[in-house]
Amino acid sequence: MALAPLRKKRATDEVYESLRAAILTHHFTPGQRLLADELCSQLGVSLTPVRHALQQLAVEGLVEIHPRSGTYVATVSAEDLAETFEIRLALETLAGRRALARWTPDASTRLHDLLTALARPVRNADAMRQHEERNLEFHLALFDIAASRRLRELYQSLNTHIQIARIHSAEGPGTAGLRDRLTQEQKEHEAIVQALEQGSAAKLESALRTHIERAQASLLAALGARQLQLPAHQPPKHQKRQRV
Ligand SMILES: [Zn+2]
Repeated sequence: MALAPLRKKRATDEVYESLRAAILTHHFTPGQRLLADELCSQLGVSLTPVRHALQQLAVEGLVEIHPRSGTYVATVSAEDLAETFEIRLALETLAGRRALARWTPDASTRLHDLLTALARPVRNADAMRQHEERNLEFHLALFDIAASRRLRELYQSLNTHIQIARIHSAEGPGTAGLRDRLTQEQKEHEAIVQALEQGSAAKLESALRTHIERAQASLLAALGARQLQLPAHQPPKHQKRQRV
């Protein structure tokens, strides 16, 4: 009796993982329409896990479900990003304040290890992916040190949008633009760790603000360079059938 729902759940998880990866690696492009029937046949599964997975991705903001016109890969506007970065700054500042109060030598070691990993050159797509992972780890470490699970969860839910925007941006591994950005990023991360070590809330807030505002400006500039198309989900009038 218990086996059937377990299997069903696993199929949903696998479909979810597969579709999520396809969106984040740009296999599907922003604004692209996703047809549940086609996904079923491509993945070799039934409609139910595909529907469930798409709903899960919609909650996460990676797909948009428009009941009258269909399901689309989400696009991110400049306004969405500006708002996301504003919230990100507020959350990190709050986590930073808590981290200062809970600062330990172990916390210092952990952040320095991450700084060392982040200093490695990024010459190919694989190194780029690793760098992005370490970068996220660096910021999440602040929430771990702050010992705040709720803040960490809020922060992670925001980061999906930033990831989407980043994969749509123009900078590739090995470009001068990326090298400059990473050099700047490293200095900013070092300033954050230094402020924590000095126990200075004022310096920490200023270092976080500098880093996050610069990251936002870089991302917007890269998106602008690529002339990203903003959402164009005008539901076609003839299309009435709900696909997902
Ligand atoms: Zn960073």
